[in-house]
Amino acid sequence: EAAPQAQARTQGVAPAPGDGTAAELEARAVSAWFGDHKVLDRVSLTMPAGRVTALIGPSGCGKSTFLRILNRMHELNPAASLAGEVLLSGQDIYAPERRLTDARRHIGMVFQKPNPFPAMSVYDNVTAGLKLTGVRAGRDTKDDLVEHCLTKAGLWNEVRDRLRQPGGALSGGQQQRLCIARSLAVRPQVLLMDEPCSALDPTSTRRVEETIKELAGEVTVVIVTHNMQQAARVSDRCAFFLAEQGTPGGIVEHGPTDAMFAEPADSRTADYVNGRF
Ligand code: ADP
Ligand code: MG
Repeated sequence: EAAPQAQARTQGVAPAPGDGTAAELEARAVSAWFGDHKVLDRVSLTMPAGRVTALIGPSGCGKSTFLRILNRMHELNPAASLAGEVLLSGQDIYAPERRLTDARRHIGMVFQKPNPFPAMSVYDNVTAGLKLTGVRAGRDTKDDLVEHCLTKAGLWNEVRDRLRQPGGALSGGQQQRLCIARSLAVRPQVLLMDEPCSALDPTSTRRVEETIKELAGEVTVVIVTHNMQQAARVSDRCAFFLAEQGTPGGIVEHGPTDAMFAEPADSRTADYVNGRF
């Protein structure tokens, strides 16, 4: 019987350091505060396994806060507090016995501003997450993994001869795709993306959208976007967030993207998706 690594090579699939298979993520009655300021009020949303869910809505309605709660980043702010539950495959990611690195390993995050380690090589940027989350991998395994993740992120052809160059030497769009490759290296079950294309040129934006569509099925994707065309292109489901007149943010309406764009149930959703506010 072939060694697992040889098998992986034959199949053209990188060996898995994590156990990445898309998982359902569910927020149950999530409320959030910064000090006394309540910014989310009992938000419930199921993000189905392997689907792309887009979070849309005006600035300041709590989309980024909600996304950070899904990855236990909200709790890093000492002024922040939280109520409700977040379930990954039915398991509470905030359960006391659940380690933070465990949640992080299964739920990756990509930010608006590309943030590779600028002095670290392209190669080491991709494998960086393995150390952070305590995954051990041998050299050959790593080579396969780096190629696999950079290919997934639509960057392999552009950087295959530049793997030893610093991540900071890449263009902005390439840096963002490098960050996507880095987040994929631990084989997350969920990938959270907070306006991942808003700092990118149209070509890089298209590459990132292609990556998202390719990840669908393998990874559960949650993407915040202000670009309605992008939401329509990449997402299966949409949730429209709104915070009206000083009230905390909440979801006005959610459902399949096609239906929400074609016949929104709420007039505020219709106004938003048609660019009327
Ligand atoms: P969005 O991503 O939809 O623009 P945010 O989640 O960034 O919204 O912000 C929601 C609300 O929380 C806003 O009123 C914002 O001012 C507030 N907020 C966000 N981050 C912080 C923070 N670190 N400290 C205090 N208030 C914050
Ligand atoms: Mg935001």
